[in-house]
Amino acid sequence: MRLISAGQHHARFEFGELQVISLRDGYIDMPPTRLRDGEGRPLPQVPVAVPLIGDNLRLSVNAFYVTDGTRSVLVDTGASDNWHDPTMGLIYKALDEAGVDRAEITDVAITHNHEDHVSGLIAPDGSEAFTKLERVWIGAGDAAVFTGRLEPIRDRVIPVSEQVALNDWTTAIPTPGHTPGHTVYEITSSAGHLLIWGDTVHVPTLQFDQPKVSWEFDGDQSQARAARAILLEQLTRPNYFVAGAHLDSPGIARVSPSGEGYALEYLATPID
Ligand SMILES: [Zn+2]
Repeated sequence: MRLISAGQHHARFEFGELQVISLRDGYIDMPPTRLRDGEGRPLPQVPVAVPLIGDNLRLSVNAFYVTDGTRSVLVDTGASDNWHDPTMGLIYKALDEAGVDRAEITDVAITHNHEDHVSGLIAPDGSEAFTKLERVWIGAGDAAVFTGRLEPIRDRVIPVSEQVALNDWTTAIPTPGHTPGHTVYEITSSAGHLLIWGDTVHVPTLQFDQPKVSWEFDGDQSQARAARAILLEQLTRPNYFVAGAHLDSPGIARVSPSGEGYALEYLATPID
């Protein structure tokens, strides 16, 4: 897997016969008090190696578009204008910048039901962001999110309750923990495997080194921790790559064992 080109809001990677485009929706600032130790207690202190901006952790918010030139899938959609701070909602600009016409997007896969992943299905003006949308996969445990503003999309929702193929190269894998319906999408090409793993990690500068550390919003922290342990171990195999919603943009990396935890090697320099 290698970087081909990048702009302010996107980065394009060649992945065998597929292309993977990382789309930067923006960022979220959150206090480090949201971090939890192995027993669910707030961390007494954050290691100095973890950068803070002001008093906050800054989490990138990324979505990923994968295409073979004929079929495509967009994994996650950003927050649109559905967030109290206007720090997200750049996915439409990112798609433009990458030369992807959003009116051509038919297939969307959602990792889980939180605002920064699902809200981008509706544009800030209240219209559907992807006018030719035909299918939206989401974990069955999270599918109830399609009410209110998202109600018009509901007729195209496909709930995922077991491992299932979305197309020739995308498999949905239920990984409950962060939410009941949290789902990882595995992309397979001649170049290897890419796990688009949603919110398996929120703070990459800490949770690879200390994978037992969890996040306040992991709905079931022990289940989320167990899912993270399995996925991290899987990622140490040859030709495995990770794409993370909250890894530093563009958020695509290799993982290797390191000490008691893991080391992360980004395939492209983070975009500010
Ligand atoms: Zn998230």
